[in-house]
Amino acid sequence: MEIDIQGVNMVYPNGRQALKGLDLPLRSPSLVGLLGPNGAGKSTLMKLLVDALRPTSGKILVDGRPLAGNERSLKSRLGYLPQDFGLFDELTAAQFLDYMAALKGLRNAKEAVQRALREVRLEEKARARIRTLSGGQRQRVGIAQALLGDPPLLIFDEPTVGLDPEERIHFRTLFSRAGQERLVLLSTHIIEDVQSVCDQLVVLAGGQIRFAGEPAALLRAAQGHVCSFWERQAAGERSLHVTARVHTAEGVRCRAVAQALPAFARPEEPTLEDAYLYLLSQEERP
Ligand code: ADP
Ligand code: MG
Repeated sequence: MEIDIQGVNMVYPNGRQALKGLDLPLRSPSLVGLLGPNGAGKSTLMKLLVDALRPTSGKILVDGRPLAGNERSLKSRLGYLPQDFGLFDELTAAQFLDYMAALKGLRNAKEAVQRALREVRLEEKARARIRTLSGGQRQRVGIAQALLGDPPLLIFDEPTVGLDPEERIHFRTLFSRAGQERLVLLSTHIIEDVQSVCDQLVVLAGGQIRFAGEPAALLRAAQGHVCSFWERQAAGERSLHVTARVHTAEGVRCRAVAQALPAFARPEEPTLEDAYLYLLSQEERP
């Protein structure tokens, strides 16, 4: 599957421009991590890709054909978890998935539901009413409905919100397996979710793409821009963007990103989180 986003702008009716001149090719198989602060435009981009919104200008091509006019063909190959996904509280998890399978027109609905429940490890809650489930379990029902019928395109908007660390690890594995044969796009602001599993990263801020490429390229861009130092050494220093502070017996150890490292600081190898924060700090400069 190939998706090409070409010169896409999205202005909401209230005049708010959520996306500005987006160009982005997406190729299957891939697990693409969509990163960005709140309000960056991640959900808007995903809504455009699932045809829940139409761009104000520009176009989206799916396998070379414009999305506008071929929505049905896309939707039959799509699993989507919206950011604020409403579940039918009075249904059981299995009933809800049965219903979604019917809407999707799946032939082997029973089997598909069982499989999806298994994939999100919710078999033992199949007969529990959704309103009795924990936040993490509800999120897993949402993920399960997207997986129904094994679609080749999966779009998850903040799928790990509400999941505990153990559940997050499980889903990272699940997403990474899914991305081996499919096109999986997942948005998050949790770097650990994309670290080591996504083969492509897209960083969105202020409605524009700040980075698109392999995680290694994002890391490279931050080489020489990450350091650590004692807090007392940095009194009055304004060029540093502190990303972590650790209290130790000898004082407060800081980690920071900066355009130029001060002489007193010790250079550090960037992590993906450093690299992401460095990129965003660059954009914040006037
Ligand atoms: P993200 O998912 O990255 O947090 P969104 O795509 O939800 O970002 O929002 C991007 C921008 O568009 C924000 O400034 C948000 O306030 C605005 N926005 C989102 N939805 C609407 C809407 N329905 N009407 C007007 N503005 C909106
Ligand atoms: Mg969002």
